[in-house]
Amino acid sequence: MKSKLSKISFIMLACLIISGIMFSCKNKVMKQEDPAIKIANMDTTVKPGDDFFRYANGNWLKNNPVPAEYSIYGTFEELRENNNKQLRQIMEEAAADKNATAGSIKQKIADFYSSGMDSAAIEKTGIKAIQADLDKIDAIKSVPDLVKTIAYLHTLGINQMFYFFSGQDDKNSEKVIAQLYQGGLGLPDRDYYLSKDPRSQEIRTEYVKHLGKTFELSGVQKEQADKDSKIVMDIETKMADVSSTRLDLRDPVKNYNKMDLAGLQKLAPQFDWSTYFSTLGLKATDEINVGQPKFFSGIAKLVTTVPVDQWKTYLKWHLLREASPFLSSAFEKEHFSFYSVVLSGIKEMKPRWKRVLSITSASLGEAVGQLYVEKYFPAEAKKRMLELVTNLKDALKDRIEKLSWMCDATKKEAEAKLAKMNLKVGYPDKWRDYSSLKITKDSYFQNIMAASQFEFQRDLNKIGKPVDRTEWGMTPQTVNAYYSPNMNEIVFPAAILQPPFFFMNADDAVNYGAIGVVIGHEMTHGFDDQGRQFDKDGNLRDWWTPEDATNFEKQTQVLVDQFDNYKMLDSLHVDGKLTLGENIADMGGLTVAYAALQKAMNGKDQNAKIDGFTSDQRFFLAYAQVWRGNTRDKELMRRLKEDVHSPKEARVNGQVYNIPEFYKAFNIKPTDKNYKPENLRPVIW
Ligand SMILES: [Zn+2]
Repeated sequence: MKSKLSKISFIMLACLIISGIMFSCKNKVMKQEDPAIKIANMDTTVKPGDDFFRYANGNWLKNNPVPAEYSIYGTFEELRENNNKQLRQIMEEAAADKNATAGSIKQKIADFYSSGMDSAAIEKTGIKAIQADLDKIDAIKSVPDLVKTIAYLHTLGINQMFYFFSGQDDKNSEKVIAQLYQGGLGLPDRDYYLSKDPRSQEIRTEYVKHLGKTFELSGVQKEQADKDSKIVMDIETKMADVSSTRLDLRDPVKNYNKMDLAGLQKLAPQFDWSTYFSTLGLKATDEINVGQPKFFSGIAKLVTTVPVDQWKTYLKWHLLREASPFLSSAFEKEHFSFYSVVLSGIKEMKPRWKRVLSITSASLGEAVGQLYVEKYFPAEAKKRMLELVTNLKDALKDRIEKLSWMCDATKKEAEAKLAKMNLKVGYPDKWRDYSSLKITKDSYFQNIMAASQFEFQRDLNKIGKPVDRTEWGMTPQTVNAYYSPNMNEIVFPAAILQPPFFFMNADDAVNYGAIGVVIGHEMTHGFDDQGRQFDKDGNLRDWWTPEDATNFEKQTQVLVDQFDNYKMLDSLHVDGKLTLGENIADMGGLTVAYAALQKAMNGKDQNAKIDGFTSDQRFFLAYAQVWRGNTRDKELMRRLKEDVHSPKEARVNGQVYNIPEFYKAFNIKPTDKNYKPENLRPVIW
């Protein structure tokens, strides 16, 4: 049902296929007189050398507490709010278009959206929407039935047991193969099942309560519902126990285990893989990457040691979990009370139109994207981006040439990789074909299912075929950007090319400090601790001399230690190893964008001031202002455990004090609170 959504978040969460960068901004069309650097947002009573994050954003932080319907609020959410208004207009215009023919993307968008807004029909249908599938689970009598039902639910996009999807072969990036990946948990991380810390214990207690309430809503008597919730918790805890840690999932070598069907059957013998694949409709099973072998052999054992009746309870739970946001309001509220309130501290549900809009936009991604770019994306933005990327690439090339810790042989490979790095800006050249997807006004739930099955088939059909290099991993209306190590490409959707990231008319310093750092960030992902293990063709291949690899690790360890010591919420701290890739990318982004700005400023007066700031000062201020934002404590706790990105504050204060030019720009003194002696500042890219 939300396979498409799940896939996107999965991609970000797993960070294997794509390294995303979460960003933020304000999407109103920039008027000439609107200053790019918002002086009113700053707190100039704070010294830049003491706390640059608050110097740049202090007043904004004080004046913008997190709204009730959010767990985190900053530039990203401001921009998303504005995007919501634009997308709502697109949906309403599509609905009003009397010339929209049946089967056109306008008809599909309009009907999808209006079926979601028809809350009376959704209330009336209630649990009946999933009754046939609940019955199907009830009819399971044996392990072979169980295997078939797991596969059937996967074709609907209901995530349970594990993930199945298609992806490039890490060691032969021209080819798309089947991928198996650990999953099947209702909580967002294995540690929540296993850790003894008070927050994990609290989450476990609340989760079991939520399970019980959801079973009761589905018609199970309280006593049985309580038993059922313990069964689910018990199975998931056993699955968590054989799951890899988030840190291990960041290691591309550990997660590459290609085998054929016989190899998989030997690894996980209690599960009939041939039946599983044939139920999916998959023919090419000669090459399968098994992300986490220990997990798959572990769950195969569970298939025979846990009674079939208990598996039925587990599958019903996951069907209910995935369906709840789209069923009657009792289910939706119960789902919200755990996944948004308990886990993230959100106070209030978003209004219905925003919820339906985001599902429509995710389910019909490139159809909505097509209308979005027609209406809101100026063609000149693409030209300006090409120019910026070219300058950033030149600057990174120069820096690689001058690196003192890397020898010539490794430099040659690094430069070849950079030269071959592909760029995508705005939207795909070839739009996805939705003609076989049927969407009607009649049922929101059926529409979600149809879109989900369509997406599953589209993904499945790629297996065994050469890779399609025109494909995009994000929709144009997404405020984000990514690097794909297998494609060796950087991608910038239309929605991020707006202030405060991208200014069509502002001075260079601001554009290089904002979107320039984003570009540099994504480029550097090609050379972070994960990305550096892939070569210019997107293959997992070690192109480093042993000395250079050691030097790289020595420098990056400094960054690991710095972030490990970054305290948030009293005793909690950033996980330096988990966030290393993103921190390297932020640091590379700042360094390379700054170098590119110097080239662009060549011959111009560097000390000329705009709004009282020199160009170097505006560069760093633009960067820091992109990261303004407030976060609820529960959300911060969740992110410190789950997110590969550092918190917003750390992305500013954890980075700028490593950059020598920042010290000069703001005249930072050894007596300032965050001053770092030169020998403690790492030099990576
Ligand atoms: Zn990133």
